[in-house]
Amino acid sequence: MTLGRFAPSPTGVLHLGNLRTALASWLSARGAGGRWIIRMEDVDGPRCRRDLGEAQLRDLAALGLESDGPVLWQSDRGALYREALAALHGAGRLYPCACTRKDLQLLASAPHAEDGLRPYPGRCRGRAWEGFDRALRLRLPEGAVAWEDRLIGPQRDDPAALTGDPLLFRRDGCFAYHLAVVVDDGAQGVTEVVRGTDLRPVTATQIRLQEALGLPRPAYAHLGMVAAPDGSRLGKRAGALGLEALEARGIIPEDILGWLGWSLGCLPRPEACAVSDLIGSFHWNRVPAGEARVPEAWA
Ligand code: GLU
Repeated sequence: MTLGRFAPSPTGVLHLGNLRTALASWLSARGAGGRWIIRMEDVDGPRCRRDLGEAQLRDLAALGLESDGPVLWQSDRGALYREALAALHGAGRLYPCACTRKDLQLLASAPHAEDGLRPYPGRCRGRAWEGFDRALRLRLPEGAVAWEDRLIGPQRDDPAALTGDPLLFRRDGCFAYHLAVVVDDGAQGVTEVVRGTDLRPVTATQIRLQEALGLPRPAYAHLGMVAAPDGSRLGKRAGALGLEALEARGIIPEDILGWLGWSLGCLPRPEACAVSDLIGSFHWNRVPAGEARVPEAWA
């Protein structure tokens, strides 16, 4: 049975781009007769706040997007991530990394990979094991990974060139995003991952981690970003294009759903609707792969 998920980091207000991803993942899972869950990815230390996560859940609920089953918070799941680290260590796949941020900047001689990522050049690969209380990286095998994206088709990436050996545990004691996301998708039985195209370059690395942990590979779909009317990215202006700010300008959840549904190819024009009105008309082959732009009047 299909299990989709939306996995926001509770570091701010969900903007239209995040809400579009949430809706697409919901429509894809529900349209296939499956279930859909929300997972709060709050492993990133102090930037993550419980109250921001609760507000995100309220905004999703206002659009009619509610988790089938309890919302899981990654900060409660350290024991599971520790087990995964122990398994990877047992398989000889981890090594301690002593590089500081500054070392990494100095080492970044290769041109920046896509999206500003700098691949880790493997400087500490030869270091002897020093225990679990160090920064830990996964030793990637050589070679490219081929995978199929439901929206953008066949992909082939060399994770060594995009991310290099990923950091799984940080010196400050936090579990890293790659570890938590892969372990939880596996533990929860997620069968499809719908997320923004900004995460496409880390997919091959996450597939390598799934393989190392013996986890099945979910289907992937990477959606185009939502940009402001002038083409700038929404991230920094998140507060300006969240549900509350839009509602303050008289734009109600039904209007937002109509625009999001239209931008996902479900409606011929942006017309106010409920989430249930969109379900029969969502098909991946109708979703435009490119960027969507916020209407001028909303910005
Ligand atoms: N938590 C990640 C984010 O908010 C998304 C993770 C994912 O969808 O794989 O950017």
